[in-house]
Order: sequence, then structure tokens, then C-alpha cells
Amino acid sequence: MIVNMSEGATEEQIQHVIERIKECGFQAHVIRGVERTIIGAVGNQGRRGELEALQAAPGVAALVPISQPFKLVGRELRKDRTVVDVGGVKIGGEHYVVIAGPCSVETRSQILEAARGVRRAGAHLLRGGAYKPRTSPYDFQGLGVEALEFLREAREETGLPIVTEVMSTEDVSLVSEYADMLQVGARNMQNFPLLRRLAKAERPVLLKRGPSATVKEWLLAAEYLLSGGNTNVVLCERGIKGFDPELRNTFDLAAIALAKEYTHLPIIADPSHGTGRRSVIAAMSRAAIAAGADGLMVEVHPCPERALSDGQQSLDLPTFTKLMEEMDQPARTPATVNA
Ligand code: PEP
Ligand code: MN
Repeated sequence: MIVNMSEGATEEQIQHVIERIKECGFQAHVIRGVERTIIGAVGNQGRRGELEALQAAPGVAALVPISQPFKLVGRELRKDRTVVDVGGVKIGGEHYVVIAGPCSVETRSQILEAARGVRRAGAHLLRGGAYKPRTSPYDFQGLGVEALEFLREAREETGLPIVTEVMSTEDVSLVSEYADMLQVGARNMQNFPLLRRLAKAERPVLLKRGPSATVKEWLLAAEYLLSGGNTNVVLCERGIKGFDPELRNTFDLAAIALAKEYTHLPIIADPSHGTGRRSVIAAMSRAAIAAGADGLMVEVHPCPERALSDGQQSLDLPTFTKLMEEMDQPARTPATVNA
């Protein structure tokens, strides 16, 4: 439920409504606008009848039900777009940002070379997996803490904040010591204990969309983070299961536009996992920004043919540099109509 306070509501009246919302068994989320304050009453254990009586409280203009199931993530309660600060880089502002780096951190020299190269090309954040969710238990699983140490060194040298995946609740504290942003992998989008733990983490979260999750399920996963106290959440579209083996996934551009309609949270597009195919990544990067994405996540490896994971979709440094240079190429203009 949204409690719209009237324009002239006093601080005392606002505090009273907050108290009453809590007494009714709901959480109160206060959003102070320039002209008026609105208060969201959210939760599943409250007494709704008592809450509705707040209509009569002094300073209350109107009570409006929130129709979407994602209450805090949705735009009904919060109209302004959220901007998430990741180690000084703002995601969700006027400009898009680029997160680039290898799928996995493999060696010290590999990640340092990648970091220097993507930095030179204009990337804003460095990615690299230390803990890898692999389909087969026989595939490279990541270097763990050693990789986190290398990532730290790469940040010290280049200044790029670090985005890296955390796969289990036990690793959250450790990974938070090294990372500027914690990635929830697609396979973990509905790992509810992990989401609950990350809701209490002191780092922003990059929440990837599950390979078969609907947009609403994705936003409800984000709702776990916001309702648990972490408002620094960025969504990441990375493709959904499709039927065409030519492409690893179906990169869901419409989901980016739709999610922008539904949520105030920033959205990053990952055309690397979204397509699994190097040759189409530049085109999909431009398309994603045109669809409204607030940034890109692109896998870049100094030597893709030697990559221990996702080599087939990784760009080498010259190709990534070219992609960055061509990002602002104008879309085609319409043909002139003959009079
Ligand atoms: C990754 O970013 O390397 C990764 C494993 O992504 P996803 O969880 O989207 O498959
Ligand atoms: Mn990968």
C-alpha cells in the first residue's frame, strides 16, 4: 500500500504514519520528494484492515494499493530512477557504463593484461570470475581466493572497481572484502538463502536474470534484496534459453525495455552470455543501449583461444577496443521519401 502524504504534511504527521504502519505489522519505506512524501507499507504479515484506516490520519492525502507483486522494485512506489554507486562509478545515470574482463580469472598476468587493456579501451569496471558456476564439475571452477587477490591488484593498478560472482552464502563476507560489486549468477537468481544474505551485505549487487526466468520472477528476486535492506541493486539481462543452437541463448532485448518500464533499478545488458557468439556482440551492444540498458557487461580475454571458460564468446583486446569506438555510431537514418 502507498500512503500519499499531503503537500503540507508535517514531520510529526509523517512520523505518526510510519509508527502506525509498523504497529500494523508492515515495513515502512519513506520516499521524500520535493513536494510531498510518500510512504510504502510493505510486508506479508500485517493487518491490512487497520492499515486502511490510516486514510483518516492527519496529513494523509490518499491510500493507493500497489498492484504489482514487486513492491519496492516497482515504479509505483518510486518514480525516480535509482543510481547505484560502485566504487565511484555510477550505474543508472545519464551515461551508460561498461563492465569488461575475462569470464574467469586464470592467472595474475592474464587478469592484469585484461584490466590494462579494457581500461585503455574505456571500460569503467573490471569483471572476472573467481568462483565459477560451471555446468560440468570437470570444467575449470575458478581460482577462488587467489583470483580475488589478483583482482585486488588489478584494481590497485588500474583504478577499475571490481565486479565478481559470489556463489554461496559462506563466501559473501570474504568476497565483499575484495569486490566492489557482488554478482549473482543466472543459475543462482532464485537461490533465496543467497539473496537473503546479500540483502544484508554492504556491497551493491548485480543480479543476473535466470535462463528461464520471466521478467516478473527476475524482479521478484530483486525484491528479496530490497526488502531485506540492500537498495543498491543492478539487474543484468544475459539471455534466456532458446531453441537455436547457433546462439547460446536468446538475448532478450524486449525484456530490457519492459524491465525499464516496471522498475526504477538500473539494467545492464550482457550480450556475451546473451548470444555466446563473438561476431554479434558489437551489434547487440548497440541494440541493448538503444533498448534502454544502463550499461554493458562484455567478456574480454587477452587471448580467447586459451581461455579456460567462455573463449568462444570472448573478445580479444583489439576487437573490444573497436567495439568501444563504434558504440556511438549513429543508427541508420530513414531513406528519404520521393515527393
Ligand atoms: C559469468 O558472468 O561469467 C556467468 C557465469 O554468467 P551467467 O551467470 O549469466 O551464466
Ligand atoms: Mn562467462
